[in-house]
Amino acid sequence: MERQDKIWVDICKAKYFPRAGFWGATNTRGTSQLWREVVKFRGELKEEVCWQIWNGQKAYAVSQPWFQGWQTQSGASTADKKLKVRDLVDTQTNQWREDQLVRLFGPQEAIQILSTVRAPDLNSNLDDALIWKRVKEGRYSVKEGYEWRMKLENSLRTDTVNETHWLRISTLKNVVPKVKIFLWRLLVGTLPIAQNLHKRIRAISPMCQRCTIENEFECHCFFFCPGSRAVWFTSPLMLRVHELPLNITQAFNHITQTLDQQGMVIFSYTMWELWKGRNEVVMQHKTFNPIQIRKNVMAWITDEHQSNPQHTVISQREEQQQYEVSNDEWQMLVDGSWDSTGKAGTAFVVYKEGIAHCFAYNHHQMSDPFHTEATAVHEAIKALCNEIRSPHDQRICINTDCQILANAILKEEIDNLPSWKAIPAVHQSIQMIKQKENRIRINYVCREAVRPAHVLANFARGGMTATTVTVVNQGTLAAWGISTALDRNFFPDSEN
Ligand SMILES: [Zn+2]
Repeated sequence: MERQDKIWVDICKAKYFPRAGFWGATNTRGTSQLWREVVKFRGELKEEVCWQIWNGQKAYAVSQPWFQGWQTQSGASTADKKLKVRDLVDTQTNQWREDQLVRLFGPQEAIQILSTVRAPDLNSNLDDALIWKRVKEGRYSVKEGYEWRMKLENSLRTDTVNETHWLRISTLKNVVPKVKIFLWRLLVGTLPIAQNLHKRIRAISPMCQRCTIENEFECHCFFFCPGSRAVWFTSPLMLRVHELPLNITQAFNHITQTLDQQGMVIFSYTMWELWKGRNEVVMQHKTFNPIQIRKNVMAWITDEHQSNPQHTVISQREEQQQYEVSNDEWQMLVDGSWDSTGKAGTAFVVYKEGIAHCFAYNHHQMSDPFHTEATAVHEAIKALCNEIRSPHDQRICINTDCQILANAILKEEIDNLPSWKAIPAVHQSIQMIKQKENRIRINYVCREAVRPAHVLANFARGGMTATTVTVVNQGTLAAWGISTALDRNFFPDSEN
């Protein structure tokens, strides 16, 4: 059939499949017995014959078999039927256009193509060849058939791990195909991660462009890079990033074996958003923003939540929350944590409309504990003006366990602070409170009252290497044994 010059092909084509091509032609009324036999035989032939793709110029994408598991796409539009395999390739990158593969064949088949067929080389002079699948170079012999079979079986055996993974990924409900494909590409090592690119092109640096601390290998990119760690820190999955193996397949096993279907959905979207965020840094030189990534993940999951309410983690998590918070004044717990190497963490929890919003920051060169406390309060006030977006007339109470700091801000005295390094933070805090027309007040409370913020600050102090801000969710708090409701032993008036 490939030999278009043969006259009988022309005759057959004109008579039986003028539009559809050999593989797409169907039995129509009035066709001969011979042709019916050919159509019947074609079904068997389809299993045996396949286009081998080189430059993608000859093979039609939806009307001719060219990958394992190819099926006639009976619903394909006329325009789609005209598509050659080369039309499924991005001419800029010479990579498969995944959106097109999914659109034409569905996610399952798209994966099959991505994992088994190399994208055609558009510049190649080598034409696609119709091959007898079971034999090398289209010639059949018993020996070669046997060798082919053994090769196939061996290749299947080495791919068992990946097949198990793929089974897990492909059966995920509530995850869109492009994200499934992305996960698959991650596992088979075809994502353009710096270290992978460096192996092929020496001129490309293997270094992670986000942190410039170490090479960007898969697990660094998704788990170990400080920005990624910050994202996982905010995730309801409670992933212990530092315990993960270095190998991505092993790490994937390690994580997914403990996750249920709902956890897998969150995991999948977190990975996807991490990758998008990372690409924005690498390609558009944007700043990596863990808060934005968390928001994006939540948007995915909330959408799923709405379409399928009984199937998400979020619905479970929210049942755990029981906040009784005053409507007329938000309570904010603030604390800092400092060690003698100058590493510090600051954090706050604000109870707003029944939800605890938690932020944690880490810092490097904090001179002393007071400097840290002052910075913690300053960060909290800044957040009220930015991330938290408190309404203009909202009254907010900032609770700190540092009496000197509370007094200094109350009395607007910055001359006798125990640390001169803290002066700018205290000064700016006073100014910002003034700008808010004194709707923000500062309150001195005992240490236990700010415990949630203290735990977060401790966590933020450890490990991270760049200054990052982290949004912590209620699920994480609950998992750490921190009450997610405002403790009424310390805030008895909060119910009014
Ligand atoms: Zn990095």
